Amino acid sequence: MTKYRVSMSAPDITEAERQAVADVLNTPVLSMGEQTFEFERAIKEYSGAKHAIAVNSGTAGLHLCVRAAGIRAGDLVLTTPFSFVASSNALLYENAVPVFVDVHMETGNIDPQRLAQAVEQIAAGGKPAQNWLPRKNAVAKKPKAILAVDVFGQPADYDALEDIANKNDLVLIEDSCEALGARYKKKLAGRFGQSAVYAFYPNKQMTTGEGGVIVTNDDEAAEFMRAMRNQGRAPGDTWLEHTHLGYNYRITEMSAALGRAQLNRLDELLAKRDQVAAWYGEHLANVPEVELPAIVPSTTRMSWFVYVIRVAPQIDREKLSALLGEAGIPSRPYFAPIHLQPFMIDRFSYKPGDFPVTEDIGRRGLALPFSGVMSQDDVGLVCDELKKALPKAIT
Ligand SMILES: *Cc1c(COP(=O)(O)O)cnc(C)c1O
Repeated sequence: MTKYRVSMSAPDITEAERQAVADVLNTPVLSMGEQTFEFERAIKEYSGAKHAIAVNSGTAGLHLCVRAAGIRAGDLVLTTPFSFVASSNALLYENAVPVFVDVHMETGNIDPQRLAQAVEQIAAGGKPAQNWLPRKNAVAKKPKAILAVDVFGQPADYDALEDIANKNDLVLIEDSCEALGARYKKKLAGRFGQSAVYAFYPNKQMTTGEGGVIVTNDDEAAEFMRAMRNQGRAPGDTWLEHTHLGYNYRITEMSAALGRAQLNRLDELLAKRDQVAAWYGEHLANVPEVELPAIVPSTTRMSWFVYVIRVAPQIDREKLSALLGEAGIPSRPYFAPIHLQPFMIDRFSYKPGDFPVTEDIGRRGLALPFSGVMSQDDVGLVCDELKKALPKAIT
């Protein structure tokens, strides 16, 4: 195995976090206690949302949002193929149909113009409607929802998305798992639509080990999701009464305590990531084969999740990644288009070429090592090796 000289990603953990988790272990309460309650309270305060429901992963949070939106088998949900697979999987868990809409070239976020066209043509029916649907296992009907994703920490275009959702009576769900702290026209990511999710896997802006939190202003949805997280126990149910068929999506007290300590440091965590992204920007500004991440004017606060460059078409990305690996620098293709994942092709018969922008940026995107604990020297090392490898990776 190669010994890497820098890590692909790393959590930013201090004594405060270690102490917070150790303190929990000195109590008998390891689930559904004060830490979870206080973590939720802190997220509510931070986000301004009326409700926060902590869960054991971002994926679990998205699944509950899908359930709360009343999305059922066969329902059509407009979403993006350029995302981490969990956003679409949350729909498949309910046998709903992801209707993919290609993305905006600059941001990689769902393209509102294409989305508006999809909604219009699906409503019109016939051949144009069919063109938006997967080749099999989907029946044309009025779509139920939009599931938008804030890709790489940059919010989607919510003015346009909210407008389309309102005009067409679609529920809007925001997958903000990569965008804690980002702002769209000064408004916090995670505050758009009926409900939204932040996620806390160790590579995210802040971590709870595993975990996520749903934020919503919808009282009814919040009560339902709270019950579904905890084996379907509705308010008033005893431990062995289950109003609903629920799940165990509970977060542990250790994770919640870690989350509280990290949230206290969020400004610092985000500032350190800003700095690392800025160093990358300086080192790579004048490398012609490298396109840097674009931040559009509506993003008034970027929350750096990953640092993904796009290589020029003449660069063989796989070769580049292999050369970097040999030099001790890890890197990852980012994202692999969801519609071309084997299980998606199997169920819906998607084909290469179906979503050209997603496929193009999916082919050229390379995530470089990124975290708030990287030093300026680490970034320099990665960029030096990248500049050395690029000429050798020209096809
Ligand atoms: C991280 C992430 C999730 C949730 O991931 P978990 O590992 O389940 O916490 C969901 N959607 C996107 C886009 C993500 O990046």
